[in-house]
Amino acid sequence: MKRDPVGTLAENYRKYGTPLMVERSNLMKFFPTSYWHLVYFERFEKIGPKEMAKYVVSNRACWNCPLACGKLVEIKDGKYAGTRVEGPEYETLFAFGGLCEIDDFPAIAKLNDLCDMYGLDTITMGNVAGFAIEAYRLGKLKSERPLEYSDPESVIWLVEQVAFRKGVGDLLAEGVKKASENLNARELAVETKGLEPPGYDPRSLQGMALGYALSDRGACHLRALMFTVDLSGEIERYGIPLEKVPRYLDNEDRFNVFDCLMLCRFARRIYDWDRLARMIKALTGIDYGVDGLRTVSQRVQTLSRLFNLRCGFKAEDDTRPKRFFEEEVEVEGGRKVVVRRQELESAVKEYYRLRGWDEKGVPLEQTLKKLGITP
Ligand code: SF4
Repeated sequence: MKRDPVGTLAENYRKYGTPLMVERSNLMKFFPTSYWHLVYFERFEKIGPKEMAKYVVSNRACWNCPLACGKLVEIKDGKYAGTRVEGPEYETLFAFGGLCEIDDFPAIAKLNDLCDMYGLDTITMGNVAGFAIEAYRLGKLKSERPLEYSDPESVIWLVEQVAFRKGVGDLLAEGVKKASENLNARELAVETKGLEPPGYDPRSLQGMALGYALSDRGACHLRALMFTVDLSGEIERYGIPLEKVPRYLDNEDRFNVFDCLMLCRFARRIYDWDRLARMIKALTGIDYGVDGLRTVSQRVQTLSRLFNLRCGFKAEDDTRPKRFFEEEVEVEGGRKVVVRRQELESAVKEYYRLRGWDEKGVPLEQTLKKLGITP
């Protein structure tokens, strides 16, 4: 890392951690807000990096990492005094700040702390809370107490209900997919393959639409980090032209290698394909070469596909919630955008083809043979 400075971005990550993204995602209009109705939170500065900096007491780092992107915050005054937590990360700020419209940084720190204590993922919990507020608002969900946007206390209450499966929390503890099925409110739900999405609206970053649709574990940003492609300015971000698909594949493949090596995603600008191959050779003596590593990754992805197929997932699950095809959001320049269904479907088909899978996303026999996989 010392020999590979990555410039001011690294410096800013060290200073602010992932909350740095709160500013950028709002200014570029991809910050999911009001349970996926908007892509901009008017009060974002109240939960942004500069606000957070007032509460940071020290940096936190994984072993030996010079970036130290973690931030330990402490709330010393007010209603949430005594809260001490590592975070909130960008995703937590989006999930409770954007989706639930909470503009109170100490309250989000408190929610983060509660989720950590109860073992709840903050992306999922924030989505569940946003879904519950929306369903309650539309009369689809009954609750022992009112659930409203911009009301941190009702969300704190909801976290407790979910954690202990009390009252309305018993239904919501199943996650957005099952809760929306039970409430007959599928049209409101935002999830893919049962996973609630992170803080990148796929209508304003449409590489993420492809990512959420194709990721083997559902709406996950980490599998292929397609926002890096969308934000690169190299390909139209408000669409999914076929030229985006090889970029998706390349990211997915490289990050499969990252995961095999347990490398942090923030090292993505350091470890390109060539460096990965050289590092593995230096560490193990095994010379995979770049092509060999790509084959390893293809095998990982194909095995994971076979696993999902065996669990009952189908090509129809490689898609996005209906709302992203039908509900427009206003982005930069006042432009209104949705994900174009036809474009997404063509991109998914192209992905299958490039992976050596058939039209239904089932790996072809010759692909399995080439990869040495016995079905
Ligand atoms: S390894 Fe990654 S997650 Fe851990 S402190 Fe460094 S940059 Fe942050």
